[in-house]
Amino acid sequence: MKYKRLTALVLVIAVLFSFCSCDTLNQFFENDLDAESRIDSDDLISHFIDVGQGDSEFIELPDGKTMLIDAGTREGGNNTIRLIKKLGYRKIDYLIGTHPHSDHIGGLADVIKAFDIGTIYMPDAETQTSTYEYLLKTIKNKNKKIKKAKAGMRIISSEEFDYSADILAPVSDSYESLNNYSVVIMLRYKNRRLLYMGDAEALAEKELADNNTDLSADVVKVGHHGSNSSSSDAFVKKTGASYAVISVGKDNDYYHPHSKIVKRWKNAGASVLRTDLCGNITICTDGNAISVKCEKQEA
Ligand SMILES: [Zn+2]
Repeated sequence: MKYKRLTALVLVIAVLFSFCSCDTLNQFFENDLDAESRIDSDDLISHFIDVGQGDSEFIELPDGKTMLIDAGTREGGNNTIRLIKKLGYRKIDYLIGTHPHSDHIGGLADVIKAFDIGTIYMPDAETQTSTYEYLLKTIKNKNKKIKKAKAGMRIISSEEFDYSADILAPVSDSYESLNNYSVVIMLRYKNRRLLYMGDAEALAEKELADNNTDLSADVVKVGHHGSNSSSSDAFVKKTGASYAVISVGKDNDYYHPHSKIVKRWKNAGASVLRTDLCGNITICTDGNAISVKCEKQEA
């Protein structure tokens, strides 16, 4: 009898855990689930945070570690801090500042103050802005150092969870445009791949192609807010992406994203998701299936 009860209990737990796939995401955002239950899931969840005109992606990795790529402007970065806290995390294991423009690194100093920080990656590119200098000072005050990001570096590889994070760019040592210094990251979880382009432009895309880098990806965080400086035809086709995410502010001064670029991704077969229309965009995968959630509308 006792044995039967135990079997029943195991079955109930197994059923509960079978729902702990991407479904937990909806439950969490509908406030039915506490943060700890959410963290227990081994899905990979990428949050493309609505920081207005800027970029910020927070990634919950399958082993419970976390990665943050950029944190928008100083003002926009408050949304990043709020979301990470809501999700229940206290530590960012891998922090990446793609390049030293204020719409990417402006919010990083406050993020660094708010959380425990693991390894910080940034490209070997400097600028004299007060935003950049404030970030350097904050990193120093926290007794942290910056690891210079370069193509070919591996951030993490987990055999146990079958995932990896690799730095694909910058390929060269120096560029005219700061955008081309962007740290480009490929995340792989089992059979799925997510590519984060920062503000990399056509030149950096071509370097990746010339390098014979495998650019195939299910999800691409489109380079440079959908500007026509990036997303060259050859690059878009090479990715074969199902989802193209554009991080962009509503009615921004730069007219991002460019309609031609949006069309290019769509014509290549990708669903285009925009933070100015969706708010926060959440993409979840168990390594095979992918689900997408838009804060403001159904994707
Ligand atoms: Zn930018």
